[in-house]
Amino acid sequence: MNKHRLHTPGPTPIPPEVAAAMAQPLDYHRTDLFRAIVREVEENARYVIGTTADVAILASTGTGALECAVVNLFSQGDKVVAVQSGKFGERWVEIARAYGLEVVVIDLEWGQSVDPVVVKRTLNEHPDAKAVLSTLCETSTGALHDIRALGRIVRAKDRLLVTDAVSALGADELRMDEWLVDAVVSCSQKGLMTPPGIGLCALGERALEASKSSTLPKYYFDFEKYRANLEKETTPFTPAISLWYGLHAALKMMRDEGIDNVFARHARMGEASRSAAKALGLLLFPQHPANTLTSIRLPEGVDGRALLKRIRGEYGFVFAGGQDHLAGKIVRIAHLGWMDDFDMIASIAALERGLNDIGFHAPLGAGVAAAQSSLASPS
Ligand code: PLP
Repeated sequence: MNKHRLHTPGPTPIPPEVAAAMAQPLDYHRTDLFRAIVREVEENARYVIGTTADVAILASTGTGALECAVVNLFSQGDKVVAVQSGKFGERWVEIARAYGLEVVVIDLEWGQSVDPVVVKRTLNEHPDAKAVLSTLCETSTGALHDIRALGRIVRAKDRLLVTDAVSALGADELRMDEWLVDAVVSCSQKGLMTPPGIGLCALGERALEASKSSTLPKYYFDFEKYRANLEKETTPFTPAISLWYGLHAALKMMRDEGIDNVFARHARMGEASRSAAKALGLLLFPQHPANTLTSIRLPEGVDGRALLKRIRGEYGFVFAGGQDHLAGKIVRIAHLGWMDDFDMIASIAALERGLNDIGFHAPLGAGVAAAQSSLASPS
């Protein structure tokens, strides 16, 4: 038997409560019953994002939610600053350019996190830039960006801060309103423990104000349609009903656990996983690692593709490899969503075995021991 264990930074495993909710027979969505679901999903999505703002719940993946933010906030020719330090920073740039925005790119080496001083300087140099497009956890590298610091800087300059929290929502700390973030986007298949297919886009007061003068073309992603329908506790278009049932159950689980406990659980797993990597003589890839996933730089001569294939084939663990120029060079192990300490420990055990199987001597048990002691006495 080879038990399947999903440790990718999206999709993530689905709790039985969520799977059971999604298995319910379909119902019509213009009913009082579904209105109650809309109300609760909206309320709990706000809770998890840390906002009182309206959250548009879209039938899309994360990229659709990014696009929703762009088309609602800007007009053709607007200038924006984008932080690019990996695949998903690049996505902001690509979407913004696709809609005819002028993008000032803060181009960082993959794995780096942006220095808030650089953002401040860039905004000084571009007083006409309307917004900063940022990413909380750059999933392609495992790096965390200091969104709280960016919030203070961007607000002091009276621009908009737009944050991609696609992978980090419900894992790394995020408090949209308290941190002065104007727009947050995310989706279902990561920390929200639901299959892919739901995108979330929250626009705060200042973002909503900006959206009134946005002239970019939009129809399905027109935030105003979602906002107006939310007042009636419904959706402008047919919702992805089964996914909504799942998301409803998942958000309820997160609310019951408490968002601070959710953050603490991920912080604990992140810290332990990083200790394990170090105990195995491995280097972490990002400068400032997120708690969403642990991204490890593989030693010279270790073929990441062969490692992942072995670990998946032999032990049933699915890890993610590197993207683009990092293919084969890093391994990304998520401890995201429906995960606990022992899931994380098991993933380290599989890593140890896999490394040895392909000929890299990693002291068996050293990573697990380091993880155990980190978990037993968290800093
Ligand atoms: N942004 C980040 C940070 C991501 O991690 C991802 C997907 O992994 C995306 C955007 C794109 O999301 P999707 O693949 O759901 O469209």
